Amino acid sequence: MAKLRFEALKKLSQRPSVHTDLPSPNVSKFYGENVFGSEQMRATLSPAVFKKVSQAIKNHEKIDEVTADAVASAAKSWAIAKGATHFTHWFQPMTGGTAEKHDSFFDAIAGIEKFKGSELVQQEPDASSFPSGGIRSTFEARGYTAWDPTSPMFLYGKTLSIPTIFVSYTGETLDAKAPLLKALKAVDKAATKVCQLFDKDIQHVVASLGPEQEYFVVDKALFDARPDLVMAGRTVFGHAPARGQQMEDHYFGSIPPRVYDFMKDFEIEAWKLGIPVRTRHNEVAPSQFEVAPLFEEVNVANDHNQLMMDVMARVADRHNLRVIFHEKPFAGLNGSGKHNNWSLITDTGVNLYAPTSSARDNLMFLTFFVTTIKAVHEHADLLRASIATPGNDFRLGANEAPPAIVSVFIGSQMTAVLNELEEKGGNVKIEKGDNMYMKLGIDQIPEIILDATDRNRTSPFAFTGNKFEFRAVGGSDNCGTAMAALNTIVADQLEEFAEAVSKEMEKGAEKRLAIVNVLRKYIKESKDVRFEGDGYSEDWVKEAAKRKLGNVKNMVRALDAYLTKKSVALFEKHGVMSHKENEARVEIKLESYIKRVQIEARVMGDLAMNHIVPTAIAYQTKLITNANGLKGLGVDNATVVQTIKEISGHIDIIKTSVRAMVEERKRINKIADTHERAVGYCDDVKEKYFDVIRDAVDKLELLIDNEDWPLVKYRELLFLR
Ligand code: ADP
Ligand code: MG
Repeated sequence: MAKLRFEALKKLSQRPSVHTDLPSPNVSKFYGENVFGSEQMRATLSPAVFKKVSQAIKNHEKIDEVTADAVASAAKSWAIAKGATHFTHWFQPMTGGTAEKHDSFFDAIAGIEKFKGSELVQQEPDASSFPSGGIRSTFEARGYTAWDPTSPMFLYGKTLSIPTIFVSYTGETLDAKAPLLKALKAVDKAATKVCQLFDKDIQHVVASLGPEQEYFVVDKALFDARPDLVMAGRTVFGHAPARGQQMEDHYFGSIPPRVYDFMKDFEIEAWKLGIPVRTRHNEVAPSQFEVAPLFEEVNVANDHNQLMMDVMARVADRHNLRVIFHEKPFAGLNGSGKHNNWSLITDTGVNLYAPTSSARDNLMFLTFFVTTIKAVHEHADLLRASIATPGNDFRLGANEAPPAIVSVFIGSQMTAVLNELEEKGGNVKIEKGDNMYMKLGIDQIPEIILDATDRNRTSPFAFTGNKFEFRAVGGSDNCGTAMAALNTIVADQLEEFAEAVSKEMEKGAEKRLAIVNVLRKYIKESKDVRFEGDGYSEDWVKEAAKRKLGNVKNMVRALDAYLTKKSVALFEKHGVMSHKENEARVEIKLESYIKRVQIEARVMGDLAMNHIVPTAIAYQTKLITNANGLKGLGVDNATVVQTIKEISGHIDIIKTSVRAMVEERKRINKIADTHERAVGYCDDVKEKYFDVIRDAVDKLELLIDNEDWPLVKYRELLFLR
């Protein structure tokens, strides 16, 4: 193993730089060239068909067979002209990631390239190997993928890829996309209704998402020499390097050349696919980076995020790098999230979360702003559940991580506005106060307009001036799950709001007053979820407990929130998920949790017993020889003997813990109930043994000769490029 480590390090020093030129200095020349989007449809479909498709997309309607045939035919010609040979339905099963099954356009019997509307609309992949939470029993391995026309088809390699949803034979959803689409429809409906209180011209409201993706980049050889990274996506061992992120010099520092080449390369690929990648920079931890696209409609933005992760992994390979999306790949360093910047935008072009100077628009803004906070307060447990992944457990609620409390940060200015509204009602004006302008005292440089809000990087759900940022979503996660939950709870609250306002009006209140009355009530009721302080502090944990806010530390228990009466009713009411689908989803997540912990436990056991312990014993034997030699010479050998004892101590802990952990697993595997089994894996495997074993291994890393240590060390993984 030590050999593998040193071979990997040697490869690292011989890496050639891989440089890719921009296809054209103008990105606009090749942006979206691999997308069969609205423009391509307009160009290739008859005006009548194009209109039908556009209308169907906008109004969440079905596309008829004739139209589908026309779209399929146009897409086929477009793709084949660009060199495509196959097509695939591209979907997002509950395993995470994306799945595809390629079919050739070429029909050998007919001797021509074919692609019918029915093949565009529906396919039947062999679904037996995708998790279904018991909805689809494996013997009737039928499931369907169905075309999602709201997200454009794209050419990936030589394959025309068609975004689809994935459902069981009996119609239940088995993927991340379907519930999201339903939630987006629900929020459109509810938000439009509320908007019409202010502006009758508004016919639709679209939710938008700009997911900032954090990730780590590590050399391929070093990554591949760490079985834990390969199998579990995170390091289960590794002593913190002498220099971690305490210097805070990585953030916004210059990007290392190899990583820079990689970024430029994947950006080109992303642009060709119409993914509006815009920002790149270093993140807080060494070797951690971020990429952010321009925001888009939620469903498309999420598809683009999923696709971008795939593009990044493939392009990284060309650069002899590996990209890591895991929420907490390295202990002691910041984890990776996917900050979901979210807002609601009307078809008249108004961002409902952007304050303006017009009084009417501001009441509309305040309505959406306050209602959203109220929704988060009402359903904080569900939001927590919606971001639960095995990896996020290490990033939220764990030892060195921020707590898993869902709270909302709105900044001092908006706090003042809400306080005023709560106290006085009526006449609230949002003015650009003096504090919003910062004079720099340098004539050549214009005044900088300060953001309407402060920034708080410790809040899981922060208002950032014209959008909310749901920052607790995990780096490897599918945003669709969090977005489905968020848009559903907001839809629900907006509906309740509309009802409450009409009740007030029935009692005789004038419309504006009725609105203000309901908002004042919401502000009072949801105050506890608002927190402006340091979300990472111990004080907040105590304060949140006093406020009775949830702080569910692990995924297994967090998921319970999906199955409360309240949540089940919520999802059913808005047509997002049936009770059965909801239960199946939780079952799938619990199963995947169990598997993940199982894999990590095995990797840990294997590495500890077969790599670390033998290395420690070999080194100890050398020390024993040394101690005896010293003794023979009459030299004091006390420190050597002390080290030998320390090593023994750690070896003992490792052996007994790994053995006990194996026994626990055997016991837990016999438990029939999935939830109980998952709790077992969480409490009696992960919580009980992982840290103990890790601690002993990491201490050995400090004691044993560097030349002998089998695992690539943190400082090598993180600082060598
Ligand atoms: P930061 O939050 O780091 O200051 P920005 O404010 O520029 O950065 O935006 C971060 C992300 O938020 C980007 O992906 C951006 O496109 C997205 N974003 C900006 N406005 C909206 C909006 N109205 N709705 C959704 N996402 C948005
Ligand atoms: Mg941000």
